[in-house]
Amino acid sequence: MLTRSALIYLSRQEGLKNFATRFSPFKKLTTRFIAGETTAEAVAAIRDINARGCSASFDHLNESVSNVAATEDEVREYLHLLDLIDQTGINSNVSIKLTQFGLEIDPELAYRNARQIVEESKRRNNFVRVDMEGSNVTQVTIDIFKRLRSEFELNDVGIVLQSYLYRTEQDARDLLKIPARIRLCKGAYDEPAEVAYPDKKDVDANYVRVMQLLLSSGTYHGIATHDPKMIDATVDFVQREGIPKSAFEFQMLYGIRRDLQEQLARDGWGMRVYVPYGKHWYPYFMRRLAERPANIWFVMKNFLKG
Ligand SMILES: Cc1cc2nc3c(=O)[nH]c(=O)nc-3n(C[C@H](O)[C@H](O)[C@H](O)COP(=O)(O)OP(=O)(O)OC[C@H]3O[C@@H](n4cnc5c(N)ncnc54)[C@H](O)[C@@H]3O)c2cc1C
Repeated sequence: MLTRSALIYLSRQEGLKNFATRFSPFKKLTTRFIAGETTAEAVAAIRDINARGCSASFDHLNESVSNVAATEDEVREYLHLLDLIDQTGINSNVSIKLTQFGLEIDPELAYRNARQIVEESKRRNNFVRVDMEGSNVTQVTIDIFKRLRSEFELNDVGIVLQSYLYRTEQDARDLLKIPARIRLCKGAYDEPAEVAYPDKKDVDANYVRVMQLLLSSGTYHGIATHDPKMIDATVDFVQREGIPKSAFEFQMLYGIRRDLQEQLARDGWGMRVYVPYGKHWYPYFMRRLAERPANIWFVMKNFLKG
C-alpha cells in the first residue's frame, strides 16, 4: 500500500506530472477534487456551492513556478478572477500560493506579484488568502505576509498556519498581535520530525489549542478541516465561550465531505469551500490522495469503470 510520504514524494515528480496531466483518462479522475481546467467550470462550481449556502475561495492551481513570465501569467489570471467575481456576482474570495508568484526565484518578485493582487482585491472590496506551503518557505511566507499586512488592512489579506508544525502556536500568538486573519489547517506536506509533530494525536491537540487561541482573539478566522472531532471541539468551545457563529467560518476543500459542508451551512455556521481549478492539478490532487489513501481505491475503481 502506498504511504502518505510516498504519495507526497510522487506529487513532486515532474515526469509523472507531465504524463498524468497529458493522459486524458487520468484527467477525468480528478473531477472529484478539482472543479475543472477552466475559469468557466470553476465559476459554475462556485454558483452551485453558493446555492448550497456556502461561500468560496478560488484557487488557480499552480506552484513552484520557475520562470518570471509564468509568474506574470498567474498575476493576470488572478486579476481576471477578481473581475469575474464582480461581473458574475458569485460569493468568493481568492487564495494564492507564493511559489506560484515566484517565491523560489526571488522573494521580492513573489512579494511584488502578490501585492498587485492584494491591491486590486482591496479596490474591489475582496480578500486574498496567502496559502501556506512546505516548511522550507514558512518563514519567508510569514515575512511577505507581514509586509503586505503593514501596507493593507486586516480585511484585505490573511494567512494560513498549519497545526502540524511545532512553531505554529508561537506564530499564531505573534500574528494575532498585528492582528491578522488566519486560516488554521493541519498541514498537507511531508515534514520531518525536526519541525513537525509526527503523531496525528499531537497534530490534533495542537489544532485544538491554536483554534481556541484564534477564536478567543475577536478577529475573524477560518477553521479549515473536515475532521468531525476538530469541528465538534470548535462548536463546543464557541458555545461554552459565548462566541457568536458570525465571528468565524469553517472551511473545507471542494469535493470533500460535501454532506458535512451542507449540514454546517444549514445549521447557520459560516462555511467556505476552497475551489481549485486549472491545468496544473497534479501536486494538489496527489496531496488529496495522500491525506486519505482510501481515495486511491475510489480513483482506481472509476478508472476501471472507464
Ligand atoms: C479550506 C482549506 C484550505 C487549506 N489550505 C491549506 C494550506 O494553505 N496549506 C496546507 O498545508 N494545507 C492546507 N489545507 C489542507 C490541510 O492542511 C489538510 O491536509 C486537510 O484538510 C486534511 O486534514 P483534515 O483537517 O481534514 O483532517 P484529517 O485528520 O486529515 O481528516 C479527517 C477526516 O476528513 C476526511 N478527509 C480528509 N482529507 C480527505 C481527503 N483528501 N479525501 C477524503 N476525505 C478526507 C476523512 O473523513 C478524514 O477521516 C487546507 C484545507 C482546507 C480545508
